[in-house]
Amino acid sequence: MRIARFDNNRVGIVQGDAIRDVTGVLAQLPAHRHPFPRHDALIANLEILQNATTVRTVPLGGAALLSPVANPGKIMAAPVNYKKHLEEALADKGIHHGKLVDEIHKAGIFLKATSSVVGPSEGVRLVHTDRRNDHEVELAVVIGTEGHSIAASDALEHVAGYCIGLDMTIRGPEDRSLRKSPDSYTVLGPWLVTPDEVGDPGALEVQIAVNGQVRQREKTSELILSVPQLIAWASSFYTLYPGDVLLTGTPQGVGPVKPGDEMLASISRIGEMRVSVTKA
Ligand code: MN
Repeated sequence: MRIARFDNNRVGIVQGDAIRDVTGVLAQLPAHRHPFPRHDALIANLEILQNATTVRTVPLGGAALLSPVANPGKIMAAPVNYKKHLEEALADKGIHHGKLVDEIHKAGIFLKATSSVVGPSEGVRLVHTDRRNDHEVELAVVIGTEGHSIAASDALEHVAGYCIGLDMTIRGPEDRSLRKSPDSYTVLGPWLVTPDEVGDPGALEVQIAVNGQVRQREKTSELILSVPQLIAWASSFYTLYPGDVLLTGTPQGVGPVKPGDEMLASISRIGEMRVSVTKA
């Protein structure tokens, strides 16, 4: 199933070139009042979509796609999780460390502000345009069921689905959480694809082109820490909740974007999304 949020917070199921609008199903969600739960209410209850009534069908091309997760509790992200991107990063700094597998464990998983999340239709609005602003295309994993200290062998049972993630980044000396958290610096889309349609998350191809020129293209089989290993590691530190997002790291080929650019990101078995770049 491909689950989209679109237009004015509509919820739909993508089928071919159309979206079945099933927004009415949201009335079945538990009513929450303050204090709100730490999870995303729809992601925690995706089973309600199974028998959802379609009120209308709209063409996909005319829909403004939003982030498939409305209220992520946290955005976790892996730095340097592709071998060649690690080499690229190390070459940039002119330094070299020991084992590749050790590098991500030294760097740890970092968090991005949830207020940085947008969908593809909203575009990226750059700040500090006098500095280098880079694209990073990544496989994004959306957690479906709560867990702590999850074993890698059980990890995929905690996944609600997958989407494309853009981990937009201002280069510079500050902490990652600051440089990667401006509004719109986390793009999620074009929709959430459930695991039964994606299959092995380690057998996908991730790509991004800027203005028609391919910048990054790699297979997720080249991840240093696999999706199950990342979930196990992250959950050894903190509880994962439905709607939490895990950005799995970007492959080699990161590069700058500037206002006026257009990014086209794609992941096999998920889809593609076009994202414009403007100045905030
Ligand atoms: Mn990244």
